[in-house]
Amino acid sequence: MDFPNRPRYIPMNRRRRIYEGKAKILYEGPEPGTLIQHFKDDATAFNAKKHEVIDGKGVLNNRISEYVFTQLNNMGIPTHFIRRMNMREQLIREVEIIPLEVVVRNVAAGSLSSRLGIEEGTQLPRSIIEFYYKNDQLNDPMVSEEHITAFGWASPQEIDDIMALAIRVNDFLAGLFLGVGIKLVDFKMETGRLWEGDMMRIVVADEISPDSCRLWDIATGNKLDKDRFRRDMGGLVESYQEVARRLGILNEQEPPRGAGPTLVK
Ligand code: UDP
Repeated sequence: MDFPNRPRYIPMNRRRRIYEGKAKILYEGPEPGTLIQHFKDDATAFNAKKHEVIDGKGVLNNRISEYVFTQLNNMGIPTHFIRRMNMREQLIREVEIIPLEVVVRNVAAGSLSSRLGIEEGTQLPRSIIEFYYKNDQLNDPMVSEEHITAFGWASPQEIDDIMALAIRVNDFLAGLFLGVGIKLVDFKMETGRLWEGDMMRIVVADEISPDSCRLWDIATGNKLDKDRFRRDMGGLVESYQEVARRLGILNEQEPPRGAGPTLVK
């Protein structure tokens, strides 16, 4: 039988690779305006000076990020996410990535603690938004709204939209994780311009996973995020599994570790 409107499945090794980053690969999607985002098992930190392959990480991040982006979409917070395709891949809308890492912090940790001498774990007086210029050669330097508008990375209106999105995502994520006994210390998100005809809107892009959040178990204080890798603590996959399990997205009978790609029908 013929399905003329159905995009033809293109095996992965024949798809055109658009971009390869540290933890993900982007392939050409099945239709114009779409891409396939592939999650690798690679973990990097300190601008890729530290690198390891951690079996199962990509599968978990794909699932956790799918869950978060689906909830955001359902709440009317626009994202690039369309649907998960298989264990390691998701179909996304092609957007024009704004070259900023947007960090939202609720509790002091990481670079904020070291830069300003505020002890890790200190509750911040309010949520704080920071911008970093996405540029590996420069080590993603922190920038202000002045830099962003002067160098044309985003307009003042776009910065307002990005900050409003970041606060909504923070409120949603903080509540989501609080409900499963996890404190959202901070997270990083990326945004992109989605063009629909002549209209453009800013959407959440990239991924939201324990690679890009700081998540602390409220009962024990245990870190359930990428700091386990950055700080050589071990147990990274187990922690990501714990996050997935608490969110109710892990099938206990089939731990994803080492499992090969499976096509979701
Ligand atoms: N983060 C990220 N990618 C980066 C830098 C930071 O996902 O390239 C996340 C990090 O996981 C944390 C938050 O952004 O949840 C704030 O990170 P911070 O500025 O404290 O930097 P770090 O301590 O990781 O150097």
